[in-house]
Amino acid sequence: MSNLPSSAIDDLKAAARGQVLTPGDAGYDDARKIWNAMIDRRPAVIIRCAGAADVCKAVNFSREHNLIVAVRGGGHNIAGTAVCDDGVMIDMTPMRSVRINPWSATAYVEPGVTLADVDGEAQAFGLAVPLGVNSTTGVAGLTLGGGFGWLSRRYGMTIDNLLSVDIVTADGTLQHASEQENPDLFWAIRGGGGNFGVVTLFEFKLHPVGPIIYGGLVVLPLDQARDALVKYRTELQTMPDELAVWAVLRLAPPLPFLPPAVHGKPMVAFAICYTGDPQDGPAAVDAIRKLGTPYGEHLGPMPYTAWQKAFDPLLTPGARNYWKSHNIETLQDGLIDVLVNAVESLPSPQCEIFLGCIGGATMRVPPTAMAYPHRSTQFAMNVHGRWDDHKDDANCIAWSRKVFQDAKPYSQGGVYVNFMTEEESGRVGAAYGPNFDRLVEVKKRYDPGNLFRHNQNIRPV
Ligand SMILES: Cc1cc2nc3c(=O)[nH]c(=O)nc-3n(C[C@H](O)[C@H](O)[C@H](O)COP(=O)(O)OP(=O)(O)OC[C@H]3O[C@@H](n4cnc5c(N)ncnc54)[C@H](O)[C@@H]3O)c2cc1C
Repeated sequence: MSNLPSSAIDDLKAAARGQVLTPGDAGYDDARKIWNAMIDRRPAVIIRCAGAADVCKAVNFSREHNLIVAVRGGGHNIAGTAVCDDGVMIDMTPMRSVRINPWSATAYVEPGVTLADVDGEAQAFGLAVPLGVNSTTGVAGLTLGGGFGWLSRRYGMTIDNLLSVDIVTADGTLQHASEQENPDLFWAIRGGGGNFGVVTLFEFKLHPVGPIIYGGLVVLPLDQARDALVKYRTELQTMPDELAVWAVLRLAPPLPFLPPAVHGKPMVAFAICYTGDPQDGPAAVDAIRKLGTPYGEHLGPMPYTAWQKAFDPLLTPGARNYWKSHNIETLQDGLIDVLVNAVESLPSPQCEIFLGCIGGATMRVPPTAMAYPHRSTQFAMNVHGRWDDHKDDANCIAWSRKVFQDAKPYSQGGVYVNFMTEEESGRVGAAYGPNFDRLVEVKKRYDPGNLFRHNQNIRPV
């Protein structure tokens, strides 16, 4: 436990505009809860920041009292970096403003917002920025690790659309970082996670999207998965950037368009989002419909904001989660075999394997242009170990690790930092590849004491 004098907490409470919570306070337990129920940590202090001034105070307080700092955005990080034991949790969730400037197609986004907040505001003007595929994810953590989703093949990673940030660095000062101002800091935060400070404002470039897109799901029996994935691999070579198709292998959920007899049966689903003219949608997705003879399909025009929420019911907070991830350049036959075999031995009905297709525009940026280096990655392959009962921990973790190991020979060796799990600090080098040494230099300059280390840590040595 920390030895914080109560007078220090009283001073902080008097100085802060937002709430300051300590163990026993009403709201403390709710504030320390995050998406992954495997994580149960008790900070000494939670500062629920109302603005940048509170963030400066929180950073100074942590440094002066020599306390570890955890920064919380949407609380989705699988490794649970948003909450620490005994230290200070800087909780950004009260800072939830999104301002869209439709004339310049830019968005000013505070760090407590979720994807749904940004999508909702931007879509009112027919605009969007590439974000992830689960609307309750925090924009802050997603962006700082890189960020990709349905729009990335067309418009790049989230960081490819980041114009500037306001950020409180370890010395407690607020800085502006962009290509023109503090460019080394701006380079580092585009993929370098929370290593360099606490972002208090993001400025994004927006693009015309929807508001109606064409998309949905095509669900095939697992015994067609090998064939279908090989055909999918071929289709990808000529797919337009407007079309994003991800694959997921799991047991069929009770979706209304699937006959009840196939609920719970092993399957591969292709999730499709076409952002070109919706009238061209049926032709654009035709080849994907013909990958096999489906159990069922549900395709059509729908609001982009609805598609952004389509996977929320499968990714609700409160379950136990253990994920393992590889970056993949090509879906080799051997990998396809590993994935299909893995679904034949699922330890829980919620476990699944996701092939998140990045590709397209994300590959047309040099790997050293910003901290995120994985510009030759076609897929982030994610083994989602997910279950409810702690008695299943060992079984589900062992399954995830085995699939990860079996898939390793077919991977690129790199990993998306935002999918790294708690005990994977040894993979930080793999997450940054050719950019690691430069990141260490920037870290030495902006955080020489490693105040921001409760993350996938880039050490200043
Ligand atoms: C269900 C689910 C779906 C996902 N889907 C996608 C997806 O489609 N695409 C994708 O790219 N990723 C996806 N992710 C991964 C996601 O990008 C990471 O989990 C990310 O860390 C979430 O950000 P957050 O703000 O919610 O997390 P938090 O846990 O709140 O924060 C994670 C870390 O980010 C840093 N951080 C957060 N806010 C700040 C800030 N203001 N300043 C400085 N550092 C900060 C801190 O180090 C913090 O510990 C998904 C995750 C989940 C759980």
